[in-house]
Amino acid sequence: MLEETSDPSPVLDPDALAGPSAEPRADRPDEAVPNSGDLTVLRALDLGQMQELVAEGGFPAYRAKQLYGWVFGKGVESLDEMKNLPRSMRDWLGARSRIAPLEMIEAKGEENATRKIAWRLDDGSVIESVLMRDEGKGRTGLCISSQVGCAVGCTFCLTGFGGFVRHCTVAEIIGQVLGVRRHLLALGERIHSFVFMGMGEPMLNLGAVIASIRLMTDTEGMAISPRRITVSTAGVVQGIEEFGRAATGVNLAVSLNATTDDVRTSIMPLNSRWPIARLLKACRDFPMATRRRITVEYVLMRGINDSEQDARRLVRLLAPLRCKVNLIMFNPHEELDFQPVEESTLDLFMKILSGAHLTASVRWSKGREIEAACGQLAAHHFGAASA
Ligand code: SF4
Repeated sequence: MLEETSDPSPVLDPDALAGPSAEPRADRPDEAVPNSGDLTVLRALDLGQMQELVAEGGFPAYRAKQLYGWVFGKGVESLDEMKNLPRSMRDWLGARSRIAPLEMIEAKGEENATRKIAWRLDDGSVIESVLMRDEGKGRTGLCISSQVGCAVGCTFCLTGFGGFVRHCTVAEIIGQVLGVRRHLLALGERIHSFVFMGMGEPMLNLGAVIASIRLMTDTEGMAISPRRITVSTAGVVQGIEEFGRAATGVNLAVSLNATTDDVRTSIMPLNSRWPIARLLKACRDFPMATRRRITVEYVLMRGINDSEQDARRLVRLLAPLRCKVNLIMFNPHEELDFQPVEESTLDLFMKILSGAHLTASVRWSKGREIEAACGQLAAHHFGAASA
């Protein structure tokens, strides 16, 4: 019988990262992966694996494509919805497999431009997805989590503060996309872009992230254009290199957030392992179509990385890179020791970047009222999940 793996080909052990948050917390053991029993999780199977499953039951080969279409194309959540499959096949599937949809436990900010959705996983862990609507362009983006918690330990991030719990499985990553798609369809909305920028560092769960991207972009199933998907990393260089070799065709974003190694290491401990020069070289070497650019994210924090010299150093650092810069206003939280910058500082940054012909845009923290800083919604549920 086919089994789902949480991490088909891990690049790095999250515990190997520097930083206090690299240690999994005792009350949230990282071995707590979902127990699917002996049931095959359909949302973790590619078409070839589904063909094997269907052949195992002695059903005609064309039934595999139909099954695949129901699971990924239509995103159904029960076998009973698969109307063109014979009852005998649905019964056979029901005895040995499950679709494993995620349980949506909270959707915050329904009326806002930013909506957070919390999901409870089989082992009680909670992850979140964030929907961001660009009112001007009338487009909606979905931010996906790839891990429960995070081992990277960025000091400005609430997820990093909570530490690493475990990797998300392929079905848990795909489940966020299918669950939100279904939720939005009922409201007459659709998702235009997808970014792996929720909880966790995608490059530390790369096997599952790549498998999920292959499922998302498969034209026989979810059929999402790779151009509409972005994977965002804090700078795991080894992962960026391996991800480039996987040739998924999706976009890359890098969270830079500082212009000197001292400052970057102080707010992103992984910089001691992969300093700025090494990270930017990996970005320059990342294979991209001619007209595509890497997104460089820069969270502006008062007194940390917001000086005029920072802006000028940023220009110099990024000059050799085909990129665009996304300046992000820090979203304050009582448990984090950082503050947002004044608008005048942001204006100066924008002026210096634009003056150097760097394409830059600003992302405002639209979701303060729904605690939209990274990981803040899920943090509410961790206590209950681990009890
Ligand atoms: S910012 Fe991203 S990589 Fe850093 S701790 Fe938070 S979730 Fe992890």
